[in-house]
Amino acid sequence: MNKNVTLAMGNGGEENNELITKIFYKAFKNEILQKSEDAAVIHGGELAFSTDSFTVSPLFFPGADIGKLAICGTCNDLAMMGAKPKYLTCSVIIEEGFSIKELERIVQSMKEELEKNGAIVVSGDTKVVPRGSVDKIFINTTGIGEIQKKGISSNNISDSDVILVSRDLGRHGAAIFAAREGIELTSNLQSDCASLYVQVQALMEADVKITAMRDATRGGVSAVLNEWAKQSNVCLEIEEKSIPVSEEVYGICEMLGFEAVNLANEGTFVLAIDKEDEQKALDVLHRFENSSNAVKIGSVSDAYVGKVIIHTAHGTRRFLDVPTGELLPRIC
Ligand code: MG
Repeated sequence: MNKNVTLAMGNGGEENNELITKIFYKAFKNEILQKSEDAAVIHGGELAFSTDSFTVSPLFFPGADIGKLAICGTCNDLAMMGAKPKYLTCSVIIEEGFSIKELERIVQSMKEELEKNGAIVVSGDTKVVPRGSVDKIFINTTGIGEIQKKGISSNNISDSDVILVSRDLGRHGAAIFAAREGIELTSNLQSDCASLYVQVQALMEADVKITAMRDATRGGVSAVLNEWAKQSNVCLEIEEKSIPVSEEVYGICEMLGFEAVNLANEGTFVLAIDKEDEQKALDVLHRFENSSNAVKIGSVSDAYVGKVIIHTAHGTRRFLDVPTGELLPRIC
C-alpha cells in the first residue's frame, strides 16, 4: 500500500477497499462491521445504523445540493437494509467566512428531505475552522432506522435471485462533472439524488421477496456488483444491452472516458430479488417516477465465484472489475 493517502483511496473502488480493510477493519474488527452491509444491523436485528460524510463540490448542482445529499445518503443506506429512517445526527464543519444565506439554504434542503423520510435530527455539532482549513462546508450525518423486514443482506444472494437496477445509471457523477467543469449541456441533465425509502416501503408492502439492496453511490453499479459477488460467493452475470443509460450521461462518459456503470448515483439502487418476484418488483418500481425505467440487468450463477461477468452487446464476455483510480473526487 502507498505510504501516503491518495485521492484514489476515497474512490469507492479498489484502493478505497484496501484502505478500509488494511487500516480500519484491521483495528475495529468485529462481527457486525465485517458483514459490510450498507448499514450495520444492531440491537437483535431491530435497528439499522449508518454514517456518512459529505464533501461534494460544488455545493449546489443541478437536481440537489449538499444538504439534500447529506440526508439522502444516510437515509438511503438505512432503507437499503429494509429500515425506516427515524433519527439522525447532523455535524457540520464550516469554513470561516461562509455565507449564512447559503447555510440556511442547505439546512432548508435537509429539512425538506428529512420530511420525505419521516425522520428527524435529534443531535448535532457545529465547528467553524479558520479560512482555508476546510473548503466551505463538510457535513456528516449518522442515522438510526427501524428494520421493518429482517434478513435483507448482501451476504445471502444465490442463484434463485435476479439482479435489477431501479433506473438509468450515472446521473449524479455526470451532473457533478458537468457542473464542475462548466460544461454547457443542451439537455437537462440532473443528479438522480433522491430518497429511496418510499420505493423500499412499497416493495415491502407488496411482500416482494427482497434478498439484498444497495444504493450505487461511489464506484457506481460495478462496485456494488463486485462487492455482492464476493460477499455472497456467487458469480453475477450482467447483460450489457439491458443496462439503462441516458443519452446525456452517455455523452459525458464519452468525454471523460468513463463507463456509466462506474459513475456515482445518489438515488439509484441495485436489487437482488427472488426470481419468482421479478415482475412484481418491477411493477412496484414502475409506479414511481424515479424508478419508472427499472429493469432486470442480470442473473446469478457459479461460473466464476466472486466475479462479475458482463455479456457485451457484441456477444463476447468480459469481467466487470471494481473501479480503480481517482475517478471523480468530492462527488459526495
Ligand atoms: Mg450505500
